[in-house]
Amino acid sequence: MKKITIAIDGLSSCGKSTMAKDLAKEIGYVYVDTGAMYRAVTLHALRKGLFNADGTIRTAELEAEMPAISISFKFNSQTGRPDTYLNGELVEQEIRSLEVSSRVSPIATLPFVRKALVAQQQKMGEDKGIVMDGRDIGTVVFPYAELKVFVTASAEVRAQRRFDELKAKGMEADFDDILKNVQERDYIDSHRETSPLRKADDAIELDNSHLTIEQQNQWLLDRYREVATE
Ligand code: C5P
Repeated sequence: MKKITIAIDGLSSCGKSTMAKDLAKEIGYVYVDTGAMYRAVTLHALRKGLFNADGTIRTAELEAEMPAISISFKFNSQTGRPDTYLNGELVEQEIRSLEVSSRVSPIATLPFVRKALVAQQQKMGEDKGIVMDGRDIGTVVFPYAELKVFVTASAEVRAQRRFDELKAKGMEADFDDILKNVQERDYIDSHRETSPLRKADDAIELDNSHLTIEQQNQWLLDRYREVATE
């Protein structure tokens, strides 16, 4: 099998992280969740008070803060998945809160944030053997990825999955708030000027609204085998 680069893009909460993580584990590749990186920057901005009362961002201050933000991942042998660290602190749980979710898309529209994170992501993928998920992986980060997948599912299905996930972790959750957040993020992510969410021309589309996790994992593994054995 040849070592390849796998880019998984798609809408918010469509299950792309689950399928990307499971595939990486199965084939022994590195997995990178780029959404976690935008979330970590958002958490840092919240902690530093860089949001104004009206929700706008103090961009000049955030830009000055960027060199002081270090994001890393460490494999957690208990969950079998990588955890996100912000300046050495474990923030995996905190970056998934609704507060961070509702602030992250405006942060991800900022060109200086994207430039810094995309450079880190490209570095992580230098040696291939990587599965990366996000919104612009197949279009901007790895335009030459050998396998590109674009995942979609209805907004209601995606909100229900996020609701179940938060509940299972014992976190507060309200279905209508989550649905609103999913729809707002879809809108901002696909209409922003810098690297909007769109399907790369050579990406394979997967609507997983009615697939189980096992079915979508099998589908992805089959696509990987087709490409890696060519
Ligand atoms: O994937 P996740 O939902 O955790 O991503 C959180 C947010 O980060 C997205 O709604 C999007 O605004 C932003 N994002 C992005 N580009 C990526 C990954 C995430 O703009 N590659």
